[in-house]
Amino acid sequence: MRIDIVTIFPAMVENALRAGVVGRAIERGTLDVAVRDLREFTTDRHRVVDDVPYGGGPGMVLKPEPLFRAIDAVERERGSRPYVVLTSPQGTPLTQAVGERLSQAPHVLVLCGRYEGVDERVRSRVDEEISIGDYVMSGGELAALVITDVVARFIPGVVGDDQSVAADSFSRGLLDFPQYTRPAEVDGRAADERLKVPEVLLSGNHAEIRRWRKRESLARTLARRPELLNGASLDDEEQEILRELVAERAR
Ligand code: SAH
Repeated sequence: MRIDIVTIFPAMVENALRAGVVGRAIERGTLDVAVRDLREFTTDRHRVVDDVPYGGGPGMVLKPEPLFRAIDAVERERGSRPYVVLTSPQGTPLTQAVGERLSQAPHVLVLCGRYEGVDERVRSRVDEEISIGDYVMSGGELAALVITDVVARFIPGVVGDDQSVAADSFSRGLLDFPQYTRPAEVDGRAADERLKVPEVLLSGNHAEIRRWRKRESLARTLARRPELLNGASLDDEEQEILRELVAERAR
């Protein structure tokens, strides 16, 4: 999969893309990400990308032509039309499902807004606006990074163990179960209950561990995000555990 990101702060995006599983996937060529400087698509000597809003008011607006030229250049280079995403607080809320859908496109182009946003006419070339949450940031770069990260995790080979993507929070409509690693006792404070690793995880009884994890996932989802359970796909054992949990709560 190819992702192009158009921004006035390419270094900010490039640096962040070097870390972790996404960085390694790009290095290996599993994922092809190209970051482009919007200023390269200006034609004036001062490489101006913004201007004052028509009708007055505070702030600046990203001019349409450099963005149009950037889209054209990416399209020409690739010989095919990318799925064009505009980062925007007014867009489709990004979810795991939206990320998975985007990961199915062979080529995505992400536009990063700045200032008061982009000239409205740019939307004529945009397939989808995506928001990463109900808050306003000063630019689309962090949103583009979030989108890239979420999408990349669905590309086979990006996350080492495919199982871990399937088990992640939201993948099945459930929050993930709690994780523990060594040591079993932190700083020798065996007396503190909160610092103990649950006995079952040390037991080596895999059937019990599986059931405990299912129960923890369900209990957490029920306590923190009960609305997720409406869309969750639960197996028989999970449905039974959920009934128990709900009954316990009613007591
Ligand atoms: N005035 C605009 C916000 C501009 S914020 C409005 O109210 O709709 C500047 C840029 O930051 C936006 O163009 C967008 O690219 C990015 N941005 C800000 N908040 C965002 C969010 N929640 N999700 C995605 N992009 C966001």
